[in-house]
Amino acid sequence: MRKAVVCDGTQPTDATVRASEARTPGKGQALRFLITGGAGFIGSHLAEDLLARGHRVHILDDLSTGSIDNVWHLSIESRFSSTIETCASASVVAELVDEADIVYHLAAAVGVDLIVQSPVRTIETNVHCTEVVLAQASKQRKPVFIASTSEVYGKSTAFPFREDGDLVMGPTTTGRWSYACSKAIDEYLGLAYWKERGLPVVVARLFNTVGPRQTGRYGMVVPKFVTQALAGRPLTVFGDGTQTRCFCHVEDVVRALVELMLLERAAYGEVFNVGSQEEISILALAERVWRLTDSDSEIVLVPYEEGYEEGFEDMPRRCPDIGKIHAAAGWVPRRSLDGILADVVSWQRAEAAVV
Ligand code: UDP
Repeated sequence: MRKAVVCDGTQPTDATVRASEARTPGKGQALRFLITGGAGFIGSHLAEDLLARGHRVHILDDLSTGSIDNVWHLSIESRFSSTIETCASASVVAELVDEADIVYHLAAAVGVDLIVQSPVRTIETNVHCTEVVLAQASKQRKPVFIASTSEVYGKSTAFPFREDGDLVMGPTTTGRWSYACSKAIDEYLGLAYWKERGLPVVVARLFNTVGPRQTGRYGMVVPKFVTQALAGRPLTVFGDGTQTRCFCHVEDVVRALVELMLLERAAYGEVFNVGSQEEISILALAERVWRLTDSDSEIVLVPYEEGYEEGFEDMPRRCPDIGKIHAAAGWVPRRSLDGILADVVSWQRAEAAVV
């Protein structure tokens, strides 16, 4: 084994040596998890899953797009706690990282509507929060999971997308790509911390993730179509509706996130796609939601510039290769699109009944 060399006073340079020194407690132990963005859609499901596995969970969320409603049912659990603060605050993050064994960094600006309307907030949140989390985790040698996105593949046409494929972005004058670039920077930074400082980092590119608690407020198509269908409003299909996506149930995604961190050294410094391979066009999706909800709504085609902004570029197709995570963790999605849609519809109906 090569000898570790200290390069900055605290961090040696050999990734292999340093990974073995990371404070990752053994499997089967109750661990302390910090989830940034833990009151968000995916974060809240992850918190629930980790608590069900017997772990302790602390969430850090500024409630900018997350909601306390997503986690109120967890607050009676003694192993659950929360801090409502921005994860841009280094002192807050330092304290919480200190009390954690493993960090899931999920806090980010999400949703195409939000990204188009608030590009400054998108770039600053995504890049700065990740800088803060990685710097603090590195000081304390805590493994970090970074949630990235399929958006980083941009306009690539190398289907299905593989983790080692090229990322193809559009011009900087088209706002959408700032999100892809900001998340790509997060990936570069995480992988650099691993390579240069030996911080155990795992990156996952999440493809379209759907399920209960997801709001359509920030543009996500499935909850939006379901809300429109249940309210009898037109289902707004942008463009000609031939663009395709693969939708994965949040329960499957959360299982992938948990299993990836259990891999420990086998996953450190690696990037994994997490998503479904069941592809559907957005027009066919609208028709399926319409049938499932027995809706009176009409389905309308809306030009992209009306749906988003002038010059908006959409991805005509997005589909992951999931061979890497399958080989590493045996992971495949279990839930079908019909099951996902049924879940979203019954959740929205139940929510509407409560209000
Ligand atoms: N979309 C749509 N109508 C809507 C919202 C979205 O037709 O009201 C389309 C959007 O243009 C994209 C797809 O649905 O082609 C998925 O959009 P979403 O924002 O859910 O995720 P994306 O894959 O774009 O990140």
